[in-house]
Amino acid sequence: MRKIKACTLCELHLSRKNAVPGEGPLKAEILFCGEAPGHNEDLQSKPFVGSAGKFLNELLKIAGLRREDVYVTNVTKCRPPENRDPFDDEIETCTTNYLHQQIAMIKPKLVVALGRIAARVLLGRYVVMGKEHGRLLDCTYAGASFKLFLTYHPAAALYGAETKTRLQVDFKKLGQIIKNMV
Ligand code: URA
Repeated sequence: MRKIKACTLCELHLSRKNAVPGEGPLKAEILFCGEAPGHNEDLQSKPFVGSAGKFLNELLKIAGLRREDVYVTNVTKCRPPENRDPFDDEIETCTTNYLHQQIAMIKPKLVVALGRIAARVLLGRYVVMGKEHGRLLDCTYAGASFKLFLTYHPAAALYGAETKTRLQVDFKKLGQIIKNMV
């Protein structure tokens, strides 16, 4: 955590206000992974606290989850300027130094990839979310094996009613998956 907050390994440290390591119990069984912090996250040093975060909280309720019981983090821990997609070298540097360690330490049973960038990083291949959202896959990442659930980034719902509905349906399904896991 302290290492992430003081990180200067890539250019993103030059424009960030605060790094956003992630939050939640280190013994969480479920980990949600987004893309990168946005404006509000950068200000507060907490993941998913802006409008996408508010919608994520609604989705968690649909799945029967409490935010305080799950771990929430991002592929990159610093906000890219103008909310652009993180570059491949930024993703590589950040994940090999931080996401790998977080997943190796938390050892989640289930990881939820929020959007195509998290899905690509975790699976090591491109994902067309329109085709693959709602799928549950076996995944090994950073030496840990877990189930990986693919869905859209919650921010995508802010731009389209159809994606919003798909996210709601996916999280209903996620709730069923979790019930069957215990
Ligand atoms: N979008 C993300 O991918 N992560 C956040 O923490 C906030 C918005």
